[in-house]
Amino acid sequence: AEVAERIAAGEVIERPASVVKELVENALDAGAREIRVEIRDGGLRLIRVSDDGQGIPEEDLERACARHSTSKIVRVEDLEHLQTLGFRGEALASIAAVSELTLLSRPIESEERGQEEPAAWITVRGGELVQRGHRARPHGTTVTVRELFYNVPARLKFMRSARSEAGQILQLLNHYAAGYPSVRFNLSIEEQSLLQTSGSGDLAIALAELYRLPLAELLIPIEVTDEEGIRIFGYVGNRVLAQPNRQHVMLFINGRPVQVRALQEALEAGYRPLLAKGRHPLLVLHLQLPAQEVDANVHPAKTEVRLRRERELATLLTRSVRAVLERSPA
Ligand code: ADP
Ligand code: MG
Repeated sequence: AEVAERIAAGEVIERPASVVKELVENALDAGAREIRVEIRDGGLRLIRVSDDGQGIPEEDLERACARHSTSKIVRVEDLEHLQTLGFRGEALASIAAVSELTLLSRPIESEERGQEEPAAWITVRGGELVQRGHRARPHGTTVTVRELFYNVPARLKFMRSARSEAGQILQLLNHYAAGYPSVRFNLSIEEQSLLQTSGSGDLAIALAELYRLPLAELLIPIEVTDEEGIRIFGYVGNRVLAQPNRQHVMLFINGRPVQVRALQEALEAGYRPLLAKGRHPLLVLHLQLPAQEVDANVHPAKTEVRLRRERELATLLTRSVRAVLERSPA
């Protein structure tokens, strides 16, 4: 790949966890009910994400790996009402520019047509198509990324240990599994299964599966609807689950995991007076806002969002969290 292309790729793909994030989001956008993630050597040797989503027709495989090609935006107006997690068409191209990426896929329609139409695959290395072929698989898509950053030595040097990269990936999957309780997630790191959810659709069950706790007594539901059409729902863990870090404070806006400084602070203002100093709860909150209240088109990594009524939301969050924790037994 061109040097400029590798630099551009670096903006979206900083580390193995960024690859996993993009591939999981693609699987979710494809309507997957099951997503399996496999990691070796902290993701530098191998990242594989398989889904049972709608798949990609063979004639679109190459285009999917090209820059600025997305199948997700039909009209400019769609930017205002984004329903998908991806929309820039950069992720696969960026990953393929700095690794060896194999995209194997079989569309649902092809499966319906029967055995004689197998799945197709292409391998792109450093942005160049190097091989293609066919093989059997049920509908869905598998993306395998090998030798990440093999052609970006400067980036490789900055990678932390495989263990710390794997830790980030585990945290990321935890977030998505809490965000999408109706999807079955499975994460295996160095051939060990570290996370599994059943896709029951019930957030409390997903949290119980993620944290392996008798959560019925330990999770307190939050459910608030205001007159502006804003809905807040989720769970706060009982105070005994409080942690010395913010890892388990998770906020989702319209299903998208987000980092919004003001809202994060608003949550903290809600729980701080009720917990021991420096402690943070298990807190999983989903905000459902009318799509036009949210502008996700801010940063390629997309965990930042801009909100039209951030102040009001912040107040609502602080109040809701405080009210619920006050009622919880200490
Ligand atoms: P974006 O998600 O912004 O559209 P990507 O580079 O992540 O861009 O993906 C490019 C295109 O490849 C997508 O628009 C989609 O059509 C297709 N694609 C990628 N991953 C999958 C997947 N897991 N299942 C089905 N289609 C996929
Ligand atoms: Mg994408």
